Amino acid sequence: MDKRQTVVSTANQQQTLTTSQGMPVDGNQHSLTAGPRGPILLSDIHFIDKMAKFDRERIPERVVHAVGAGGFGHFELTHDVSKYTKAKFLNGVGKQTPICVRFSTTLGERGFSDLDRDPRGFAIKMYTEEGNVDFVCNNTPFFFIRDPLKFPDVIHSRRRNPQTNIRDPNMAWDFISLNPESIQNIMFLFSERGISDGYRHMDGFSAHAYKWVNAKGDSFLVKYHIKTDAGVKSIAPEDSVKIEQRTKDYSAEDLWNHLGSGKAASWTFFIQAIPEAEAATYRYDVTDITKIWPHGDYPLIPVGKFVLTRNPSNNFAEMEQVAFSPGNICPGIELSNDRILQARVFSYPDTQRHRLGANFEQIPVNCPMYGKIHNYQRDGPMRVDGNQGGGVNYEPNSLGGPVEDPSTAAKPVAVSGHAMRNLYANTGDIDMEQPRAFWERVLKEESKKYLVNAMTKSMRTCRPDIKQRMVTLCTNVHPEFGTRLKTALENVDAPKL
Ligand code: NDP
Repeated sequence: MDKRQTVVSTANQQQTLTTSQGMPVDGNQHSLTAGPRGPILLSDIHFIDKMAKFDRERIPERVVHAVGAGGFGHFELTHDVSKYTKAKFLNGVGKQTPICVRFSTTLGERGFSDLDRDPRGFAIKMYTEEGNVDFVCNNTPFFFIRDPLKFPDVIHSRRRNPQTNIRDPNMAWDFISLNPESIQNIMFLFSERGISDGYRHMDGFSAHAYKWVNAKGDSFLVKYHIKTDAGVKSIAPEDSVKIEQRTKDYSAEDLWNHLGSGKAASWTFFIQAIPEAEAATYRYDVTDITKIWPHGDYPLIPVGKFVLTRNPSNNFAEMEQVAFSPGNICPGIELSNDRILQARVFSYPDTQRHRLGANFEQIPVNCPMYGKIHNYQRDGPMRVDGNQGGGVNYEPNSLGGPVEDPSTAAKPVAVSGHAMRNLYANTGDIDMEQPRAFWERVLKEESKKYLVNAMTKSMRTCRPDIKQRMVTLCTNVHPEFGTRLKTALENVDAPKL
């Protein structure tokens, strides 16, 4: 049985009210006082227990992706992909694996509108027989930066001004105008798809290349595309403003009501796969997360379905405490040299240890569902799983402790070169090729107008030098794009260029 279903509501069963130690509570409306007008007594154990718990209700909010919602369901393998991977949950057509999914926005603090123009998170935890495997995706197939050393900077620039605590478009556009590799993500974000109509109507992308390895040891660089079966749908900015007057939780509400009414939400999972040897000479650097792989070069290969069928039983227990990491992989799925992926593999568990504690894997939603954990790790705050009982806690040992399985080792990776702050080699006009294709081939006239209009609105109060740099950057993408942006910026009610 799905362990998570054991968290059931007892609201209708008229249980006796207790303290957190289980002692029956005699009264919950009036404090224990010395006489009707006297002070509260320290011996009001229930009052102190209740207030102390309340005082500690908040845990640190996620540093990004604080606003979110999700649910539970399963992944079903619909196609044979044994040619690409030996991962057990991806072998055996028809096999189902339980999943937990959390959608989110990126920048907003808890309580912020979930209709913000912002990349959406789309994180999936699969409880496989080889441990938890997470796909920690976004609804954009690329990212703003390709070196993680800039990650805090890109997030700071799009957040609040440190002095005024107000979001400052100067900061965001200053950063972008000085990072040409961001432009493809910006064009997606300021297109119609930048404001998804809820979480059910958006796609998810790994954006990273992972490495998949089959049973023979053949390896492939693989990107994930998780396409909504409900169709991509967006909300016009003027409509989102109206909705935000009623609720800041539109996307969460839509998902809750949909799953709550007994309907399922589903996505089809595709991959793009490049044989590893071919990847080395591919025109685009496969470790560069600011690039897609054109579908014409590597078409989508169907794999399976992600299906959500039920809401969480409790938001804090499951959605607030769920802890994802792109480093949660299994034999047959390995990391690539994508620098952002490598950094996330460190950063996600690092932030979970800070946010949830050293033993965050023991929180039920994060526990591997199949089999127990066997290792030599012990103790730490909130160790609640029995701490592996009387099992031996060191290795080597002669006591029959758990042993390694060398057959699960990752494929050896050849490395060469100098240890130094290496630049990405393949940059320059190649960074403009894909945004140019997006402008020339993908965007229809209406979408081009929308894009220029949305960027202009966001940039209208920016300093002239920032606007000028953005016009130059967009001109490098396509002269028509640059000219249209320049004209639009000159015609909004703001300082001229
Ligand atoms: P294709 O024509 O094969 O694919 C275009 C892609 O763009 C499709 O995935 C499509 O999604 C998506 N798209 C269509 N309209 C919009 C929009 N308004 N906003 C955002 N995405 C949209 O071309 P290529 O594969 O050669 O890619 C060309 C450009 O398309 C890329 O440079 C990139 O900017 C963009 N793109 C490419 C993706 C890829 O993985 N190849 C993924 C997403 C965007 P749908 O099928 O749902 O309409």
